[in-house]
Amino acid sequence: MRPTLNNRLTMKKVLDLADEAYFKRGQEYFADRCVEDFRQTGDSIRATVLGSSLYSVRIWLVSGQISYSCDCPIGREGEFCKHLVAASLAWLADADKKKKTAEPGVTEEDIRSHLAVLDREELINLILKQAGISGEFYDQLMQTAAPGRAGHRRA
Ligand SMILES: [Zn+2]
Repeated sequence: MRPTLNNRLTMKKVLDLADEAYFKRGQEYFADRCVEDFRQTGDSIRATVLGSSLYSVRIWLVSGQISYSCDCPIGREGEFCKHLVAASLAWLADADKKKKTAEPGVTEEDIRSHLAVLDREELINLILKQAGISGEFYDQLMQTAAPGRAGHRRA
């Protein structure tokens, strides 16, 4: 089976990685909805977790293994901190929801082939629709589309 976050980042794995105390605190953070700005790109998750301050959390795969980072003092020492636990739990809850709606066994390759048969117009509509949902993506498009803007280059 190709390693993906779906089969690598499991509740068991989170329990494995995190100290019991961090796990408990992370659960509280998750329950208190401290996980904000949650995004997944392929097999990489980013989130902002509100603790004593705002921390940036990242979880991704390296050669099929979970890698993680958090910019809090504990995370910086390489520990799987409470922020990482909270973000993982948020992701697991979300993945659970998706499993119930998505067709089983759909891979990125399937999505790719699905997109490959759409025509330009459909793709543009899809991207614009998505850009409307994600403010950040919309800004990125605005920047790359702006004519004569410094740093803007045409290939
Ligand atoms: Zn942390």
